Amino acid sequence: MRVCLLCEQEFTPAVQFARLFSFKSVRKSKICLQCLKQFEKLTSNRCSACDKELDQGFICNDCKKWQKIYGENLLHNHALYRYNSAFHDLMVAYKRRGDYVLREVLQELCYGYLQKTEYDLYIPVPTSPEHQDRRQFDTISAIYADIVPLTQLLIKESGSHAQGEKNKEERLKTPQSFLIDKNIKIKGNIVSGKVLILDDIYTTGRTLYHARDCLQQGFPGMQIESFSICH
Ligand SMILES: [Zn+2]
Ligand SMILES: [Zn+2]
Repeated sequence: MRVCLLCEQEFTPAVQFARLFSFKSVRKSKICLQCLKQFEKLTSNRCSACDKELDQGFICNDCKKWQKIYGENLLHNHALYRYNSAFHDLMVAYKRRGDYVLREVLQELCYGYLQKTEYDLYIPVPTSPEHQDRRQFDTISAIYADIVPLTQLLIKESGSHAQGEKNKEERLKTPQSFLIDKNIKIKGNIVSGKVLILDDIYTTGRTLYHARDCLQQGFPGMQIESFSICH
């Protein structure tokens, strides 16, 4: 028996969950089945670029806007869950209140998927220095560092505000605030040239496109995709 990180009820870790993973990497579930069920997986009909759920068609309206800027060079994002109220509550507790232990819930939701991926580099979207100071941890790296090897190739300029505090229009107008950390050496790690940028939530795509643009400029040969736990 263990205590669920979300509802604090005792539960027996589900066998089903363990089966998702290879034998080497069985992780015991940190949340009960009832809580796990509140996070809804994205259904099969999705935008071919950003993974947003669609009623019809192949590409969502946001990506159509990106097409006007980027043409065929759309960012391919992989997402797993719907941004519903359970997710919203989880992210508020994790990011705004800085409840560090909740990274384990987020890890539980994406661990099985990420373990099966093969990229040369996994690059987390960085938190601004001000936010990191306030929370005492980097919210994105804290989720992914236990799952895949991270390369902190991107840094965020200080003075840039978090996306969560803006409305949709303001987010889309946010200027580029990422830089490449020139102290990071990546040469020996490049095999296929495929890299994955890691974020938590895909909202407008603005943050991830900025991260992608920055990397593409510094490393023109990279094949860059992105991952967000929810959309
Ligand atoms: Zn629970
Ligand atoms: Zn899309």
